[in-house]
Amino acid sequence: MQIWPTGIFASIDGGLGAGIESVQKLGVPTVHLSAPSVALRTAENCAQTKAEFAAAGIQISVVFIGFPEDDYQTVEHVVQTVGLVPEGTREARLKETLEIADFAASLGVDAIGMHLGFVPGEPQDAAFQQLVDVTRRVCDHCSRQGQFFHLETGQETADELLTFIEAVGRDELKVNFDPANMILYGAGDPLEALDKVGAHVRSVHCKDASETRRADQPWYEDAPLGTGDVNIEAFLNKLNDLGYEGPLTIEREYSPDQAGDIAAALKLLEGLRAKILG
Ligand code: MG
Repeated sequence: MQIWPTGIFASIDGGLGAGIESVQKLGVPTVHLSAPSVALRTAENCAQTKAEFAAAGIQISVVFIGFPEDDYQTVEHVVQTVGLVPEGTREARLKETLEIADFAASLGVDAIGMHLGFVPGEPQDAAFQQLVDVTRRVCDHCSRQGQFFHLETGQETADELLTFIEAVGRDELKVNFDPANMILYGAGDPLEALDKVGAHVRSVHCKDASETRRADQPWYEDAPLGTGDVNIEAFLNKLNDLGYEGPLTIEREYSPDQAGDIAAALKLLEGLRAKILG
C-alpha cells in the first residue's frame, strides 16, 4: 500500500462512521472501524465483515472501542464516564476491550484504539497506578495476538501522556494522534505535542478544530479539515519528518454536511500528500 493511504471512520452497525458502500464511493483504501456492539460481534458477522472489506480492497487499520455510557456532553462528564478510568465500570469494560481485541484479531486487524479517559493525578497516586495496571492487561492480551493498543490523544498534555506511556512500559502501547482533540481539550499546541510523542504514533486522525469558540458552540465541536487552527500542512510535514507512513484517517464528527466535509477533506489531503511526498 502507498505511503499515507487515506481513510475514514466506518461502522458495520449504523454507529459512528460510514457503511462500506459510502467508503467504496469515496474510494478510500483504509478505515478505522468503530467496534460493533456485542450482539453483532458474532463469528458469522466477523467472517462476513472480513470478506466484504477484503472484496472491496479496503484495509481496516484500527478497530476503535467506545462504550455506550461514554458521555462527552461536558469535559467533567468525560472525566466521570469515558474509557477505562471510571472505577465502577472498569472491570466490565476491560473484559469487553479484550473481547473486541479478539474480534479485531479475527478480522485480521493488528490494532485497537480507545479514549482511555483522563489519566488521574500523579504517578505516585493509587488511581494512576490502577490505570497503569489495567492498561498493561490490555497490552499483554494484545501482545499474545500480535496487536497494538492505540491511545487516542486529547485529554492529557503531551508530557502527561509520555509519563503514562513510560509508566506502562509496554511496547504494544502506541498513540493515535488526534491534533484537534489537543485544541478542544485545551491540552496544548498539537504540533508541539507531536514533537514530544511522535515516536509512539502509530495512527492519526486528520481532524481540525478552532481555538475561538462561538458563544453557543459545544466544546467538542470540530471544524472542517483545513479551516481550524491545527495547520494540517504543518501537521503532515511533521508526520513526514517522523517517518510516519500509515493511514491519514479523516474524522469529522459534528457537521451539518458531514459527507461534503469529508469529501473536501479527502481532496485537501490528497493535494497535500502529492505536494509533500512529490
Ligand atoms: Mg479522534
